[in-house]
Amino acid sequence: MQKFAEIVGVANVLTDAADMAPYLTDWTGAWTGDAAAVVRPGSTDEVAALVLAAREAELPITVQSGNTSVAGGSVPGAGKPGLVLSMSRLNRIREIDSAARTATVDAGVVIEALQTATAEHGLDFPLMFGARGTAQIGGALATNAGGANVLRHGNARDLCLGIEAVLPSGEVVNGLSGLRKDNTGYDLRHLLMGSEGTLGIITGAVLKLVPTPKIRAAAFVALSEMDAALDVLNALQDATGGLVEAFEWLPRETVEAIRAHDPALRAPLEDAAETGILVELASTRPDDAATDESGEARLQSLMLATIEPLMERGLIVDGFFATSEQQRLDLWRLREAVLETIVAHGPFVALDVSLPLSAVPEVLRQAQPLAEESGLKPLLVGHLGDGNIHYAVVAAPGQTWDPETVRSFSDRLTDLVTAYGGSYSAEHGIGRAKAATLAKRKDPAQLATMRAIKAALDPESLLGRGILFSEV
Ligand SMILES: Cc1cc2nc3c(=O)[nH]c(=O)nc-3n(C[C@H](O)[C@H](O)[C@H](O)COP(=O)(O)OP(=O)(O)OC[C@H]3O[C@@H](n4cnc5c(N)ncnc54)[C@H](O)[C@@H]3O)c2cc1C
Repeated sequence: MQKFAEIVGVANVLTDAADMAPYLTDWTGAWTGDAAAVVRPGSTDEVAALVLAAREAELPITVQSGNTSVAGGSVPGAGKPGLVLSMSRLNRIREIDSAARTATVDAGVVIEALQTATAEHGLDFPLMFGARGTAQIGGALATNAGGANVLRHGNARDLCLGIEAVLPSGEVVNGLSGLRKDNTGYDLRHLLMGSEGTLGIITGAVLKLVPTPKIRAAAFVALSEMDAALDVLNALQDATGGLVEAFEWLPRETVEAIRAHDPALRAPLEDAAETGILVELASTRPDDAATDESGEARLQSLMLATIEPLMERGLIVDGFFATSEQQRLDLWRLREAVLETIVAHGPFVALDVSLPLSAVPEVLRQAQPLAEESGLKPLLVGHLGDGNIHYAVVAAPGQTWDPETVRSFSDRLTDLVTAYGGSYSAEHGIGRAKAATLAKRKDPAQLATMRAIKAALDPESLLGRGILFSEV
């Protein structure tokens, strides 16, 4: 440990069990590992020196940012205890370039802290999910995180122009040029994004920013049936010129479970919607923020005017329109309480699937009896505009939680999703939780290529042991 302390300072090498504990269990509480030490570098050079020292000491490294992974990748697994390398001290916003609309940051900057800083420049970093107050840029890039605004702005991958990283060799890759066009061979940036801490340690990034919307309009609407969702989404997109920023599915059972968990959260509709959608429009045009003759902002009137005919057509059966910022935020509090509700419920499994948009209703129809037969209650939520459904299951009332039955259900659901051309990891990554699924289901040629890349960059398997590949 002496060598590590020389690099980062003695205060930043934790070896005491109580000090290390918060770094060794993940957010869900499902994954706990062991480590020889937690080390907290404060610069890219310190990360590089730590990598060299860890290699010499033959200590594997698990990289950790905000520790909000829901795939078990942020904490060490079984096997030889190594280092947890916490990125939290690398938290400098290096530059916000208002004209180029980019931010250059250390990887340990918390997403929300960046959003607060860019807001002062009238700009936003539009990555939006419940853990943004804790998750860091490096973690979001390493998992290619998604969230509620992917529909409009894309995944983390789409928001990143450049990456600086330390490779398992200890070399620093400086890709922070921020160029929007650069076709000079293999793009390491894209290789590192989504690699979940197995190919390199991201230490910095250049990120795209967008203008902060002048106005947002949110509503919670009840659809007549799931099959109406695409018609409603397309009508909203067509009428607004593509201003839909979020289209989030919250079925009745999920809203009821959230309210049972936190009664302070209000249900938006008096009659609970079987198929509720939180829809949000956002516009940067001053005209859309101006008040019209009805006393509403024009964007809100536009939303209303678009939804009314959809109600006449019977596609939407009820709706609540947020008329104040507080009401809009309350809708989002409800949405963002889902994961916490599921975790608090007791044992659960959360499958994170994506499907071709048109296949979503049919797969959900076929999945329901599979869950019921297994004594499981689905608690679902979805970034429906992207075909991304978080299919969580808990024990149905009166049923006990049987891991074997749950495993079999997960397999059957994954078979179903695969049969419809979907993915078994839409945005949460593979981590440790789905390493076996990846080994079993990934196209063999792609899997072999992934292994070859891992072996080329990290032949000693220094980084992220047990993440993506359970055998290395
Ligand atoms: C309440 C809640 C809501 C969530 N909602 C969403 C959602 O809507 N969409 C979504 O995509 N995810 C969501 N997540 C999952 C999670 O927040 C994301 O995966 C997030 O990107 C992880 O960031 P982190 O900083 O916490 O990374 P960590 O959890 O610390 O790490 C995640 C993985 O990345 C690796 N890693 C971390 N930092 C680096 C780095 N600097 N360099 C290389 N590898 C690194 C780790 O080794 C690990 O494998 C949610 C989680 C919670 C708790």
